[in-house]
Amino acid sequence: MRLVFIGPPGAGKGTQCKRLVELLKIPHLSTGEMLRTVKRQETALSRWVASYIDAGKLAPDHLVMRIVAQRLQSEECVNGALFDGFPRTIIQAQLLDDYLEEQGIQLDMALELKAVEDELIQRLLKRAQVDGRADDNYETIRERLHVFNTQTAPLTEYYASQGKLEQVDGMQSEELVFNAIRLCVDRHQPNN
Ligand code: ADP
Repeated sequence: MRLVFIGPPGAGKGTQCKRLVELLKIPHLSTGEMLRTVKRQETALSRWVASYIDAGKLAPDHLVMRIVAQRLQSEECVNGALFDGFPRTIIQAQLLDDYLEEQGIQLDMALELKAVEDELIQRLLKRAQVDGRADDNYETIRERLHVFNTQTAPLTEYYASQGKLEQVDGMQSEELVFNAIRLCVDRHQPNN
């Protein structure tokens, strides 16, 4: 199964993704993780990538698609993948659709985790104290939420028009969210 997971920062995507990849036995492709890996290398590219992440801005669409495509070519991705944090713009969604079409495959589902903004800010500030992620500071959190609302939220329309969208209330307990996600997965399982 191939699915994209859409949700604002702090909605609990990370936790649910971990459970979902265990259930479906597919690789977890997090572009945030991939870009942080690039950022840790001491190269010109890493400094360029850092300038986006540290400001809470989106990295360029074609760069992100290139990194994802590299990963999709690996053996582990032949039977499916969970895309976490990607696509984040309509252009990325189109690039992904084009790429998959060239390979003769397609997405089965787009899952959106819905959340209340005030709660997200509180969660992210708390996470900052635990994980120490450099982009979990108030200014960057506000920017990431703004970017989500303006650039990523329109993806729901894009996937709804393809009949692939499912929406789950992310403000429930972890268990209830996961149960709801499982029902969505059952509805969109490919027939092979
Ligand atoms: P969060 O969902 O908490 O914002 P992520 O780990 O998904 O965290 O992303 C962290 C940062 O990495 C983003 O703010 C952005 O700078 C960059 N990033 C991640 N995924 C993408 C993407 N698909 N396109 C562009 N930039 C991205």
